[in-house]
Amino acid sequence: MTLRTLEALTFDNTYARLPEAFYAKLNPTPFQASPYLVHANPEAAALISLDPEEAARPDFAQVFGGSLLVPGMEPLAMLYSGHQFGVYVPQLGDGRAILLGEATNERGERWDLHLKGGGLTPFSRDGDGRAVLRSTIREYLCCAAMTGLGIPTTQALCIVGSDHKVYREQVETGATLVRMAPSHVRFGTFEIFYYRKQHEHLRVLADYVIAQHYPHLTAVPTKYARFFTEVVERTATLIAQWQAVGWSHGVMNTDNMSVLGLTLDYGPYGFMDDYDAGFICNHSDHNGRYAYNQQPYIGLWNLSCLAQALLPLVEKEALKAVLETYQPFYEQTYLTHMRAKLGLREGRTEDDSLIQDFLGLLQESHADYTRVFRELSAFSSAEGATNEKLRELFLNRDRFDEWAARYRDRLRSEQSRDGERQARMDRVNPKYVLRNYLAQVAIEKAQHKDFSEIERMYTLLQHPYSDQPGMEAYAAPPPNWGKHLAVSCSS
Ligand code: AMP
Ligand code: MG
Repeated sequence: MTLRTLEALTFDNTYARLPEAFYAKLNPTPFQASPYLVHANPEAAALISLDPEEAARPDFAQVFGGSLLVPGMEPLAMLYSGHQFGVYVPQLGDGRAILLGEATNERGERWDLHLKGGGLTPFSRDGDGRAVLRSTIREYLCCAAMTGLGIPTTQALCIVGSDHKVYREQVETGATLVRMAPSHVRFGTFEIFYYRKQHEHLRVLADYVIAQHYPHLTAVPTKYARFFTEVVERTATLIAQWQAVGWSHGVMNTDNMSVLGLTLDYGPYGFMDDYDAGFICNHSDHNGRYAYNQQPYIGLWNLSCLAQALLPLVEKEALKAVLETYQPFYEQTYLTHMRAKLGLREGRTEDDSLIQDFLGLLQESHADYTRVFRELSAFSSAEGATNEKLRELFLNRDRFDEWAARYRDRLRSEQSRDGERQARMDRVNPKYVLRNYLAQVAIEKAQHKDFSEIERMYTLLQHPYSDQPGMEAYAAPPPNWGKHLAVSCSS
């Protein structure tokens, strides 16, 4: 692979060639204080054939901090709307993000370079168009975590900081994050043209998304219905992965739902520490609309909004029929993940209750979700084994023993061998996740211009399933101070 300099990046800006109604063209607004690199992601750089060594150049921070464009960039803010907390908001759009251009790599693949925090756009409403260092670090590290876990996500190329002050509840350090994805089209991009009754634009958008991202459907007579079917499946698949790893998005508004089934828009997300089905990671979500156990249902609700927006293109009955496939598809996918987490190779009807009863035990014991599953890998099915290390994570030991006996029988009934099973389970039960408090430590150090913890976490999270020497502390549940950190929307 030949690696490129910044100036040698190549672009093919397909979105900029869509009708003008789809976006507003504008340049980023430079920070008032010089930009500096906080961290750059060599894996993401490779996706656009960019030499990772380029990150060391001052120009890198200039470009990705919004002060300098490289040839071929055609910056624009994308227009969209969406349902926020169940209410339709007629216009949202990139209020603090700017699509710099679509970089093409050596294989001809296109990647949106989306500058988050690049200043005001026509869609900024009451906001300042900026992002703070704290929230960019959270997004950056979670992208690394999701990628390491194998969960579809947007990527993060880099964080650029600046001593430019940004006013939130307190004065904070400004920063930009460059987000990469094959596309940033959201459910809300379809919704805006539907609700504005711009059905010709809606069709152009659908044709564009299909041609770019679902090219196998272009010649299919029912292509719009088939497109919707694939979005339903990708969304269900994504949410099943979130549930299995114990992750909550926190703001599943339809403008934060990717038509590619990627995890999009990291705000007040959270990996669960203690298992709690009703876990609400977003401090501003007072009614728990986006609680952990609501996510599968919200996925369906959001897909119904997309279905509504597709009404001018697809028969209502056909859309309804596709929506009805969501729940069984989701349940099957979730069950497949959970079986793997329990190390079960075969499918049995009693598995669902075995899984649910286990989760019930975790709930009752406030047991650490990640740790319990990792410990379960080491479960011994030998006669008389008490599995003490696992057992002591539960409050009601008798009930744990009952469950363990059922589990042992279930394992034996498929001739499971402990060593082989443990290796398999370790590949699906992560040892390291981005616990809130770990992100917080990295943030606090970064606020004193020490970016070493970002580097450490970035490296750690690339291999969440492997035991990493010297990193035992990063697998531990949070200390008391780190248990109830408040995170909320828009920062
Ligand atoms: P989010 O919660 O990040 O998905 O944002 C929801 C909407 O608010 C999107 O249209 C954002 O572009 C916009 N927004 C969020 N924060 C800001 C900000 N600081 N300045 C301008 N717009 C913002
Ligand atoms: Mg958003």
